[in-house]
Amino acid sequence: VFAHVVRAPEDPILGVTVAYNKDTSPMKVNLGVGAYRTEEGKPLVLNVVRRAEQMLVNDTSRVKEYLPITGLADFNKRSAELIFGAESPALQENRVTTVQCLSGTGSLRIGAEFLARHYDEHTIYIPQPTWGNHPKVFTLAGLSVKYYRYYDPATRGLDFQGLLDDLAAAPAGAIVLLHACAHNPTGVDPTIDQWEKIRQLMRSKGLLPFFDSAYQGFASGNLDADAQSVRMFVADGGECLVAQSYAKNMGLYGERVGALSIACKDRDVSSKVESQLKLVIRPMYSNPPIHGASIVATILKDRKMYDEWTVELKAMADRIISMRQQLFDTMQARGTPGDWSHIIKQIGMFTFTGLNAEQVSFMTREYHIYMTSDGRISMAGLSSRTVPHLADAMHAAVTR
Ligand code: PMP
Repeated sequence: VFAHVVRAPEDPILGVTVAYNKDTSPMKVNLGVGAYRTEEGKPLVLNVVRRAEQMLVNDTSRVKEYLPITGLADFNKRSAELIFGAESPALQENRVTTVQCLSGTGSLRIGAEFLARHYDEHTIYIPQPTWGNHPKVFTLAGLSVKYYRYYDPATRGLDFQGLLDDLAAAPAGAIVLLHACAHNPTGVDPTIDQWEKIRQLMRSKGLLPFFDSAYQGFASGNLDADAQSVRMFVADGGECLVAQSYAKNMGLYGERVGALSIACKDRDVSSKVESQLKLVIRPMYSNPPIHGASIVATILKDRKMYDEWTVELKAMADRIISMRQQLFDTMQARGTPGDWSHIIKQIGMFTFTGLNAEQVSFMTREYHIYMTSDGRISMAGLSSRTVPHLADAMHAAVTR
């Protein structure tokens, strides 16, 4: 009965790793997937995460009962404080509802399903370009996706005027997806002044912000700095949605830990919204898993562990920043033609190199370097050992 099923293409991002795994060359480097690697090229489990897990295992009073539909209460409370700030008036006013979801993706999907059911305007504007999963998540949730200009290939920076013009032309009430920091795939973020102008425009038109916060702390090494965009939109008293992920900043990728928060007008609205979020979640997966959220709650609750986390988080962010500098310096030393300063200017895990699909395929073929065809490289996959090899490949690709 399934013989007619057509084979689907590999996911464009995860497919890079599939191709990498098949390559037998010792030279091969995987710069496709957005997961942190150590200088030795190994996945990293943070010490503080290992310690939290030990504590959880040793605590024999812990059982494996179901969590509530909305997840672990402690986790939700601490997650909201992490993104909005512990002193946030919105939290003190109890006008935010937070539910534990399956990492960033699940949080986006639950938020989108809620909007499709309970919000009049079904159009969501997403940046051009954006993370490849965004259009699929929103479309399948029942929203209709449109793009706003974001990236200017000429400057390899923000097309700020294009962004403002497109949002100004959006219908009143439309939803707007914003990357809270470390825009994926471009690494290009608005400045604080630009965020303020975006905020004013969106509020004046009644556009609804939906933040995707997948890299808090991972961009700058500072959790508060990376949450500033979100906090500006909460400080003005207006509504917004935020999808949080602990995949990158706590290295909990496969544990699938995240949260969706919806900041509402007041406490009454927020409790009604929460009651409807439960109706979205219950028939989908009933309730979220307990282990990852318990790790996060353990760390966020304990001042010492929290401080340890921030040190380990900053070390990851700093290593990525240092990879940017090393790659830039090596290309300067090679005399690679062109302006490559965007490598050190862009923020977060990725560099949007500006290499085209043909150059990328050349680098994969000749240098066994794996990356997405849009020219995005994960800086977290690089090390001092592999930087010269990448610089050689990029030099060869642009001077061919
Ligand atoms: N949003 C963005 C912008 C991302 O880059 C990612 C991870 N690549 C996610 C959301 C979701 O990640 P996860 O579901 O693993 O938390």
